[in-house]
Amino acid sequence: MAEIATALPIERRPLGWDGKRLKGMLDESERLLVETGRYYGVDSLTLKDGNPIYYEKIWSRLRGGIVGARETALNISASPIVREIGELCFALFTPEGDSITLSTGIMAHVHTMSEAIKHMLRSEYEEDPGIAHGDIFVNNDPQLGDVHNADVMEMLPIIHEGELIGWAAGVTHEIDVGAPQPASMPIGTVSRYEDGWILSCQKVGSNDQLHRDYENRINTAVRTPFYWLLDEKCRIVGCQLIRDNVLRLVQEEGLATYKTFIREVIEDTRRAFLANLELMTVPGTYRFPSFMDVAHSNDRDRMPEFAAVDSIMNCPLEVRIGADCSFELDLDGANKWGYHSFNCTPSGLQGGLWVGLSQTLIPNDKVNDGAYLATKFNTPYGTWANPDNPACSNTLSWMFLIPCFTGMFHALSQAFVGRGYVEEVVAAYPFTGNVTQGGGPNHVGNPNGAWSNFEHSCCGISARYVLDGETGCAAVWNPEGDMGDVEAWEQLEPLLYIGRNVRPNTGGAGKYRGGLGWESVRLVYNTPYQVMFNGRDGFVFQTSGLFGGYPGASGYRHSVKNTDMKERIAKRLPYPVRDQDPDNSQIEANVRGDVVKDQHCYHHPDLHKEYDIYLSLIAGGHGVGDPLERDPKLVVTDLDEGYLLERYAVPIYGVVAHPGQDGKWVLNAAGTAARRAEMRKQRLERSQSVEAWMAQTRPRVEKMDFIPAVRKMYRESHELSAKWRHEYRGFWGLPADWNPAAEA
Ligand code: MN
Repeated sequence: MAEIATALPIERRPLGWDGKRLKGMLDESERLLVETGRYYGVDSLTLKDGNPIYYEKIWSRLRGGIVGARETALNISASPIVREIGELCFALFTPEGDSITLSTGIMAHVHTMSEAIKHMLRSEYEEDPGIAHGDIFVNNDPQLGDVHNADVMEMLPIIHEGELIGWAAGVTHEIDVGAPQPASMPIGTVSRYEDGWILSCQKVGSNDQLHRDYENRINTAVRTPFYWLLDEKCRIVGCQLIRDNVLRLVQEEGLATYKTFIREVIEDTRRAFLANLELMTVPGTYRFPSFMDVAHSNDRDRMPEFAAVDSIMNCPLEVRIGADCSFELDLDGANKWGYHSFNCTPSGLQGGLWVGLSQTLIPNDKVNDGAYLATKFNTPYGTWANPDNPACSNTLSWMFLIPCFTGMFHALSQAFVGRGYVEEVVAAYPFTGNVTQGGGPNHVGNPNGAWSNFEHSCCGISARYVLDGETGCAAVWNPEGDMGDVEAWEQLEPLLYIGRNVRPNTGGAGKYRGGLGWESVRLVYNTPYQVMFNGRDGFVFQTSGLFGGYPGASGYRHSVKNTDMKERIAKRLPYPVRDQDPDNSQIEANVRGDVVKDQHCYHHPDLHKEYDIYLSLIAGGHGVGDPLERDPKLVVTDLDEGYLLERYAVPIYGVVAHPGQDGKWVLNAAGTAARRAEMRKQRLERSQSVEAWMAQTRPRVEKMDFIPAVRKMYRESHELSAKWRHEYRGFWGLPADWNPAAEA
């Protein structure tokens, strides 16, 4: 009688070091950090101290390999988001998922990929589905390790003689995620079930090949499978290059050296973070609130009633720097998650923290999870930062995440000034908008086209302590942002660029002003229609400037529909190439049609037909210092360059100037001094003591006499945090039983 095969579980040899299982290695790493306070319990840096040149050589080989892999791999992608503006990033991780070194690019994801790897280890992927050389894992689930599902990450194990010695991982931002609404960051979604395709740490390939069932699924899951697949290949190739580089290094330098190095380099960075913190900051508690509008009441006809409401994000960020070099971020007092796509996950916020640190306390190439391990981040359960509803939508988490971290940049900047590191100051980063997205029948015959334009990767940078911010050059999540060539975006979309201009007045005013934003004027063309989104702050200033500087301008949307553009082009009549000055806009002068102009900078998809005009306003940075202290000559230069609209020189800066013979502006120094003296006098006359203002405002606060969105915001914060309620009550001197949450 034939023997019946039994389905016993496959016995796998543990992949960890010294016969350990991977989950055991992760547990041990976490235990050692808690017990010793040092990464993996590393005490002395034997490799670094014993042979510093050799240590640097290994570092350079690993880091160089990753930067090189990114540069090579991005050419495989066809997506302009990846190829043109470099919206990708690679990193090398320890077997437990701690980052060792990383490439340039969207560095926010180095830590989110770490979370995803740790999720696979904690879930015992070693046993099922198994981890082998040539396996390909993919994740874009923000609850496991990501910011939003548009960022898709690939993770490849690096196995040497049966032992897992690391992970190579890479991430890119996709063009479409297969949500009910087109594009990569749908707006108007109310739950995760509308967020599109979410892959939760799935094995999608073996033997360095994608599984055929996964490739089939790509074709049916998203509107732009061609881009998705080529992006996937770009990520896989980058990871393979990194894997090969590591295996070569191990072969040449020995496994023991590699194993010692990866522990030491993370502990080294943890110590460097503490040293920088001690050197550059003043211990203390720093608090900076930020806000974001969520005005969905305009979408009543498109969204369920419970979601079509106005609300505001409350982000009372507290940064605590301890005398013992502890570094803690605390979101206690944040308000509730909502039925919109801007909710964050703790993993996403860790990504934001990571990219913020890489531009402040660890501003060099030697950045890894050592810096993360030296920090703590409280994201209270039930808030927008850690929703107690597992089905929250997250597709545009950046909408909350970016303003949230303005508080950290402000706190660090203030701390830097306290220690005299004035050149490190930055008045935070503006929201990276306008995010232009859309979808519909496109010019290459796809009836379900979808696109996400990423020129917002080039916002104005905020002012520094001693100089103006730069115009259109970076994004908080990608310090090497690039706006991309117009031809690349036109190829992706069916829209034409009819103008792209630096935008006056967009940088926040100050002694040093924020870098300017800019604008694109777009014409819907070569398609019967597109549904289009805007995406940025419209009703609130997300934050203040610093030390008396003003915030950068908030945005507005401006479209003209049912236009006469076709006729204008045929008759060679003037058409709009700039908006620039809202009171004197070419878009209004040089085209006829139905004007949509308001502060609803995000909304449910809005139908635009061929020959409709769409304006995109890219944000400028925030200012530093009192505008009345700005060197008048700099204001005159701003007038000459078209960076400041002439009618604002006097009211904002008190600078009096007139146009000269040669068309250049001429400063009236005496007039300026007199005007500024008058403005200072008016300020004094207008001012009142804080006590008087609080006494006058207290009755409004007690009755919560605010617009509904503000009332909702405060009620949620009071409901979620007794500590916040207690402090708020104490600050305003309200009765002990005062509790606005109860009467909601
Ligand atoms: Mn992204």
